[in-house]
Amino acid sequence: MKVIGVDIGGTKILGGLIDERGNLLEETLVYTKAHLGREKILENLFIAIDKLIDKDVKGIGIGSAGRINFKEGIVEYATDNLPGWTGCNLKQLLEDRYKIPVIADNDVNAAVIGEIWQGAGRGYKDIVMIAIGTGVGGAIVYNGEVIRGGSWSAGEIGHMILYPKGRQCNCGQRGCLEQYVSGTAIARTYSEVSKEKKIAGAEEVFLLAEKGDKMALEIVNDFVNSLSIAILSLKNLLDPEIFIIGGGVIGAKRVWWDKLKKTLENRASITPAQLENKATMVGAAKLIIDYLSKNN
Ligand SMILES: [Zn+2]
Repeated sequence: MKVIGVDIGGTKILGGLIDERGNLLEETLVYTKAHLGREKILENLFIAIDKLIDKDVKGIGIGSAGRINFKEGIVEYATDNLPGWTGCNLKQLLEDRYKIPVIADNDVNAAVIGEIWQGAGRGYKDIVMIAIGTGVGGAIVYNGEVIRGGSWSAGEIGHMILYPKGRQCNCGQRGCLEQYVSGTAIARTYSEVSKEKKIAGAEEVFLLAEKGDKMALEIVNDFVNSLSIAILSLKNLLDPEIFIIGGGVIGAKRVWWDKLKKTLENRASITPAQLENKATMVGAAKLIIDYLSKNN
């Protein structure tokens, strides 16, 4: 059996042709050009799928940023990273166009499924995944099942309030984890503290910390502290066997991973994600494979 798994992000659409054993047969990348709105995002999604599809493809799995109604395959809510994406009926649109079953889920939910299938989640049943990139996403797996919540927003770890009087968040609250732990936040904090220094992104802050820059080191320590508070709260709430930590910031784990482990002592088990930017695509493929085997 062959299926297509697709990861729709604010910058890139990543698609893969995958067989039921998890072999990645073909891969494609199309820029989302999200700022041009829903029609353009869909056009680019179709381009990605058209490149991969053939008559042997039995279904399509989609992992998209935003709050996704898993039952209906509809985007319930997406931020301005994907303008106009809210309300898009992905399942129906794609099933009408390609005449094969389609399933859609949140990108981090799909990513944890990918990690369970082929990566850091193998052998675990109770997992919390934290994806730290431009924002902070999360996914909760309990007894092998993803918890999606009553309105499809379970696992929004990035919007747990860490500092009640803290930074304004784009969700309307103040002091969300995402405002302290994301790549965006790390770069912003450095720019604020250093004043004159222009910072391209979090990666640069991590490089500076590695070179011994005092300000950067302090920011990395704050990042680790904030993240560890979130992890310990989640540990108390959900008691997962393992925390899988992924997203772009994991690329600089050489700078902060050991600090995080030390801060946590042995109060929570953490492991880095293994599938890198392929986790959502692979997990989306697994979701449709499971759907097809249940419904055939
Ligand atoms: Zn928030």
